[in-house]
Amino acid sequence: MIDILILGAGAAGLFCAKWLQSDNYLILEHNTKPAQKIKISGGGRCNITNLNLSIENYFTHHPNLAREILHDFNNTALLSWLIEHGCEPVIRKSSQYFCPQSSQQLIDLLANKRVILGEEIVDVVYENGRFITTTKKQKYISRTILVATGGLSYKKIGASDIGYKIAQKFGHTIAPLFPALVGLTVQKEQFWFKELSGVSMKARVKVGDKEFYDDILFAHRGISGPAILNASLYWKSGTIEIGFLQAFPKLIPHKILSTQLPLPKRFIKHFLQHIGIPDRKVVDLSKEQLHIVRQNLLAFTFAPAGTFGYERAEVTRGGVMLDELDEYLQSKIVPGLFFAGEVCDVTGELGGYNFQWAFSSAKRAAKGINASIAHS
Ligand SMILES: Cc1cc2nc3c(=O)[nH]c(=O)nc-3n(C[C@H](O)[C@H](O)[C@H](O)COP(=O)(O)OP(=O)(O)OC[C@H]3O[C@@H](n4cnc5c(N)ncnc54)[C@H](O)[C@@H]3O)c2cc1C
Repeated sequence: MIDILILGAGAAGLFCAKWLQSDNYLILEHNTKPAQKIKISGGGRCNITNLNLSIENYFTHHPNLAREILHDFNNTALLSWLIEHGCEPVIRKSSQYFCPQSSQQLIDLLANKRVILGEEIVDVVYENGRFITTTKKQKYISRTILVATGGLSYKKIGASDIGYKIAQKFGHTIAPLFPALVGLTVQKEQFWFKELSGVSMKARVKVGDKEFYDDILFAHRGISGPAILNASLYWKSGTIEIGFLQAFPKLIPHKILSTQLPLPKRFIKHFLQHIGIPDRKVVDLSKEQLHIVRQNLLAFTFAPAGTFGYERAEVTRGGVMLDELDEYLQSKIVPGLFFAGEVCDVTGELGGYNFQWAFSSAKRAAKGINASIAHS
């Protein structure tokens, strides 16, 4: 019998293996190569973590345990581990740590001879204190299992719902799943966004009490860009607010309005058309018209129709609820069943927060697995 069967050779599964005391373990992966999400992440350079790590950068229903796990193996600890193993991340965009050359460096670091590729997990049952995992090819019997099968996004590189299915089968509650870090589609009233496809600018995006100041990008399907992607993590339904300008300029009365607004020309043209204000000399516009321009540029409010979906989402919001797991991310329902990574109900913003969670949670689960094996 195997001590530990790790389901999924992604960031969490491979990192957990690094901390196991027993070498009687296997890692099952249905892809033909491990860690395909690491491979494509961060534009091929993998944004591993962030200088500023806080639970405030995450969406979760149970922040206390998540905070504690992130604190226990934090960004500094992760960076030290990476440096110790010969991969010194470089900082970009002031706070984001990336692989120095390519994400393959991290994949090489996590490489593991116990990964069995081409094994698609279809079911897990628990009988007489042992787990029987069925793949399309065979069965594996183990004392413990770690579910590290990730979320639903990017099915084309291996994402599946098996982790959630296993959790549910054993009686776990799944916080509602939703594509996140993804572009937003628009309703009919905002179809003017589509005319702006390709236009980008810095803007402030507010959703609930969260606010992001970063690039937004108008797209054929709606609106995208880092500020929108971050906002999508916190958006469920209802409105979001965009501040296209952070301060309204002092206008010169005898000059044309559009020439005085520090925004892309194409944007101003469609924006003014949308709010029904003619592009004239400022002196020829009423106070009320100028008020409408000002208000909409500083705080434009609209209700997105939905998201670009899992095929474009970087992550899945929601997952296995932490209150049904112990401090080692072990099931309180079935001992020996552990979870780590994106399958859990902890989803980070852009900037390396999701890999940080994958690594912190995997390290924590390894601690629990080691204790569980030692006592069995
Ligand atoms: C395009 C893109 C870019 C991203 N960039 C970043 C970034 O720069 N920084 C960041 O922090 N996060 C980034 N993310 C998010 C990050 O990749 C994930 O949050 C992280 O990989 C989660 O790790 P995980 O180990 O939980 O899951 P995964 O890395 O998804 O690993 C799960 C593994 O399980 C395997 N699996 C699934 N189902 C089965 C099955 N039935 N049988 C066998 N194997 C199975 C999968 O093939 C996969 O290898 C990005 C995501 C995407 C899609």
